Amino acid sequence: MKYLFGPVNSRRLGLSLGIDLVPSKTCSLNCLYCECGCTTLLTDRIDEYVPTADVLRELEDFLSPGPKLDVVTFSGSGEPTLHSGIGAVISFLRDRFPQYRIAVLTNGTMLWKEEVRKALMRADMVVPSLDAVSEEVFARMLRPAPGITAERTVHGILRFSREYRGSLVIEVFILPGVNDSPAELEKIRRVCLEAGPQSVQLNRLDRPGAEDWVESAGDERMAEIRALFRPLNVSVVGGPPEDASRTFTARDIDDLVIATVSRRPSTLEDLVSALGISRGEILRTLEKLAAEGRLSAVDMDRGRFYRLKQE
Ligand code: SF4
Repeated sequence: MKYLFGPVNSRRLGLSLGIDLVPSKTCSLNCLYCECGCTTLLTDRIDEYVPTADVLRELEDFLSPGPKLDVVTFSGSGEPTLHSGIGAVISFLRDRFPQYRIAVLTNGTMLWKEEVRKALMRADMVVPSLDAVSEEVFARMLRPAPGITAERTVHGILRFSREYRGSLVIEVFILPGVNDSPAELEKIRRVCLEAGPQSVQLNRLDRPGAEDWVESAGDERMAEIRALFRPLNVSVVGGPPEDASRTFTARDIDDLVIATVSRRPSTLEDLVSALGISRGEILRTLEKLAAEGRLSAVDMDRGRFYRLKQE
């Protein structure tokens, strides 16, 4: 197989067939921590880096016998959204093999482009990275192609979060001494809150990165950072599962509900499943926010939808 790899048992996705849409190593970033080594083609140019028809043929051959799989994942050794045919490949999978989930792991830098956001709409899960929000940390850690900035990336992720209806999971890679200052972490956390993802996954190096001096964060530091990201639903990749006993203050729940309904009108049930907070607590919060005039409600077939009250 030229464009497919695995299936591999992914730490976070289950049994996953990988699709690599760009030659190694084509990327809009050259991250210090990249486990695929240094980027050889640093670019933000969208192009048909490998023939889309050949990728579809390989998928057809591999998936036709109905192999046991949880998910087909766009990842590999570069940035998949640089490929101009990613939307066509997603649509092919969705229509031809609807039994498999589709995930896209992306560095998020191309989401400011409407064509890229549209291309990903039919995926079940999109996992953009958000490792830095200030330009200085972004440049030092991710060494982007000219034209790629933190501002543009954050804007793209937020825009996508408002339009996308699938599972949005934001990944934050922690590099000690690079992006783990309290100020930078707080900026990242605020953008995550605004995006209202289903969850945030904190990741760290677990094999050699692109640069020798880059270190991995220890368990204790990851646990501290995880606590800092509350009230978001945050976990450490490869770490203990989500803490079922996580506690929220009333203020935390207010913020989470407001962040979620500002992205899209939601029912009580939508909020319970998106936020993983008990029905009773969400209901109390909705009633309080509605009484304060911050939310309005409209009854539809699927139930009562809450949304942010327009000023
Ligand atoms: S975005 Fe991903 S593939 Fe590109 S350099 Fe960073 S870690 Fe490597």
